[in-house]
Amino acid sequence: DLPVVVIAGRPNVGKSTLFNRLVGRRQALVADTPGVTRDRKEGIALIRGRHVRLVDTAGLEEAAPETLFGRMRASSESALDEADLILFCIDARSGITPADEHFAQWIRRRNRPVLLVANKTEGRLGAASAMEAYALGLGEPQAISAEHGEGVTDLMWEIAERL
Ligand code: GDP
Ligand code: MG
Repeated sequence: DLPVVVIAGRPNVGKSTLFNRLVGRRQALVADTPGVTRDRKEGIALIRGRHVRLVDTAGLEEAAPETLFGRMRASSESALDEADLILFCIDARSGITPADEHFAQWIRRRNRPVLLVANKTEGRLGAASAMEAYALGLGEPQAISAEHGEGVTDLMWEIAERL
């Protein structure tokens, strides 16, 4: 079986943009699973010569903020439990929010392998804005711009090292 990498985080941090950048055209290779596609989108990504099953926890975005964690448990708990690696994404531009902290705590408690990804770090002050994410206690943030592709090659190295 392929290693499973799950992209997680609150809405709008850039999870789907990262998913699309890592999966590219290979998304078409994965058949839709009835009843599952609303909550997650899956694709095959090629990470440093190795195929991995990448999961975008897309269904969470339909939840109102106050029910996000209830919805997360209902729809994506199994995705996170099955993960060989969680890519926990934050938005370095907006900074760390209570939702990020809550989500990070939830992941830490479950003791899952996690890589912290600080997205939207393009531009002059980008890498510096990622450092705030250290406070989440999930290790060193990997600064990327999913939209512009910056830092994605380095991110793939870090993913490969953990699989
Ligand atoms: P999701 O809700 O976590 O799946 O986030 P999306 O991938 O849908 O992205 C949310 C918004 O952030 C969209 O408007 C994206 O275009 C934008 N976005 C994603 N990645 C980046 C990035 O690297 N830099 C900037 N500036 N915006 C980004
Ligand atoms: Mg999305």
